[in-house]
Amino acid sequence: MTLKASLFSGLKDKRVPCRTRGCKNTWTFTGEDQLRWMREGKTDPPERMCPECYAKYNELEDREVPCANEACKGTWTWSKAARLAALKRGQTEPPHGVLCKACRERSKVVERLEVPCRVRGCSNTWVWTAEERMAADGGQGTASPPVRMCDECYGRWRDLADRQEPCRVSGCEGTWMWTRGMQLEAGRKGVTSPPRRLCAACGEVLDGLEDKEQPCRVRGCKGTWVWTRLAQVEAKRAGDGGPPHRMCDACYERMKGLEDRQQPCRIKGCKNTWAWTRTMQLEGSLRGRTAAPRRMCDECAAAVTRLVDRDAPCKHEGCGGTWNWTAEMQLSAERAGRGNEPPRRMCAACEKFLEEVRPVSLACSSCGKEILWTTQGQLMARLGKWVRPSLCADCRKAMSPADVEGQGQS
Ligand SMILES: [Zn+2]
Ligand SMILES: [Zn+2]
Ligand SMILES: [Zn+2]
Ligand SMILES: [Zn+2]
Ligand SMILES: [Zn+2]
Ligand SMILES: [Zn+2]
Ligand SMILES: [Zn+2]
Ligand SMILES: [Zn+2]
Repeated sequence: MTLKASLFSGLKDKRVPCRTRGCKNTWTFTGEDQLRWMREGKTDPPERMCPECYAKYNELEDREVPCANEACKGTWTWSKAARLAALKRGQTEPPHGVLCKACRERSKVVERLEVPCRVRGCSNTWVWTAEERMAADGGQGTASPPVRMCDECYGRWRDLADRQEPCRVSGCEGTWMWTRGMQLEAGRKGVTSPPRRLCAACGEVLDGLEDKEQPCRVRGCKGTWVWTRLAQVEAKRAGDGGPPHRMCDACYERMKGLEDRQQPCRIKGCKNTWAWTRTMQLEGSLRGRTAAPRRMCDECAAAVTRLVDRDAPCKHEGCGGTWNWTAEMQLSAERAGRGNEPPRRMCAACEKFLEEVRPVSLACSSCGKEILWTTQGQLMARLGKWVRPSLCADCRKAMSPADVEGQGQS
């Protein structure tokens, strides 16, 4: 065995990683190659490409790419090796923002710029590098910086995910997207829960609507309240679609100062009460009434419907007239324990007669003294019960009872 052979036998083929960045392949460093390599005094393995990369590399050519500075006509060289590495990352187009050599040199005198973070509520900055500024306007300072987040915000933004949030309209199943950007801004303001928003469908309905003035639900009030677009959308979702019955602000304020008040039943003899509600009080006050109305309790209101008005005879003997004994009067009598016999009362005709006539002054037919003919006496005379008096009380007394029959008292 020669020396050479023995040396060969000591070196095994080695798999060495491909030099192309991002390539996971290897190439074979043969024993023979290793030996030659050692003879040249080198220790580290050479930087080589895997066969695949090498084949690709040979297909590629250096490419001249226009300078990122739009005002510059220069180019920079996108080398085969760089192109290959880019290909390994799946990129077929040259990177953005690369300057030509001349511009790169000049960018060394352009100052970098600190730009406020785009996230509202964040006071951090991010650095607009000299190279980027050169690319934007050739270092003239004419271009405004791009809208960008600071590193901190970007880090947070990356960890966030867009979220579907429920529509704020009750009864709606729809959702809206709370984007990462919105979450980030909310977080900067210390807000962790999503805002109350409409889903797209509800938003569309809302857009087609207008706030509407609605009359106050309190009878007699001329005030109005605003039925908002949002409330209208909610009403539509709830199914009925009509405006609710609501008070105007003024009524609401007045109502707050009121309380329901128990009032006595208007039926005499009844001990029950009825509730004079705040709404009733408010409605009354709008009509200028401050006192509670006279009302029946629920029980009496029900009982009175079972009774009917009755004609009751006039209390005056000989009068065929009647008066109306109302259901309510009957109920009152019942409640007071007076049974169902009508009280003694005169008819309307008798009442009217008494109101219209005046006492009349007459002269005694015997002594000539003045006699007063009362209104009651006149009524009794009209009913045929008494006669018009002709004697004064003294003369009457002096006569025999038989002579004064039918004269009545005066
Ligand atoms: Zn490779
Ligand atoms: Zn350039
Ligand atoms: Zn920020
Ligand atoms: Zn909705
Ligand atoms: Zn009102
Ligand atoms: Zn009652
Ligand atoms: Zn009568
Ligand atoms: Zn007389």
